[in-house]
Amino acid sequence: MNFRPPYRHLRRLVNQFKKLPGIGEKGAWRMSVYIATASPKLARELAKALISVTERMRICSLCYNLAEGDLCWICADDSRDRSKICVVQSVIDILHVEQIGVYKGLYHVLGGVISPWEGVTPEHLNISALMKRIEKGVEEVILGLSSTAEGEATSQYLYKILKEKVKVTKLAKGLPIGIEVEFLDDISLSEAFKRREEM
Ligand SMILES: [Zn+2]
Repeated sequence: MNFRPPYRHLRRLVNQFKKLPGIGEKGAWRMSVYIATASPKLARELAKALISVTERMRICSLCYNLAEGDLCWICADDSRDRSKICVVQSVIDILHVEQIGVYKGLYHVLGGVISPWEGVTPEHLNISALMKRIEKGVEEVILGLSSTAEGEATSQYLYKILKEKVKVTKLAKGLPIGIEVEFLDDISLSEAFKRREEM
């Protein structure tokens, strides 16, 4: 949107929304105008929710998922299969896999993938914590990273450092090339888990 109305307060809100992932200029204006014309109650509830989520949520000390206490709801659940760890890029990927209900092991959130172009090296990712975890009775590490070039390179890197210590599998081939796990449809993701292959 090239035209910028002279409303300082509205523009301030637009600029905040634009910082969020997946929100462009148009979406930021749409949400801001909606809030500006809605009842003040909506804005109050929204502000409260924003503050409570940043103050109350923390990172799981074991797997780097979001948690309300020291451990996330998955690590704290005794019925989960502790012999398997599925390595994913982000918390969003956990939510997606949990939604299809095909996997009952634990997770490990890497926090991204190795990307020399963006200055992301293995040291920036939660890899050393993963290496410590596999020493405690883990039998299989499932690499659930995206099939993008960076995702593939990261899977190869992890395979090299893990293969002597634990069985390493990868989500089944046949996944559409170049797609982020986050954007896979439920059936493809479920199949990729069931037909995972040893590397
Ligand atoms: Zn956890």
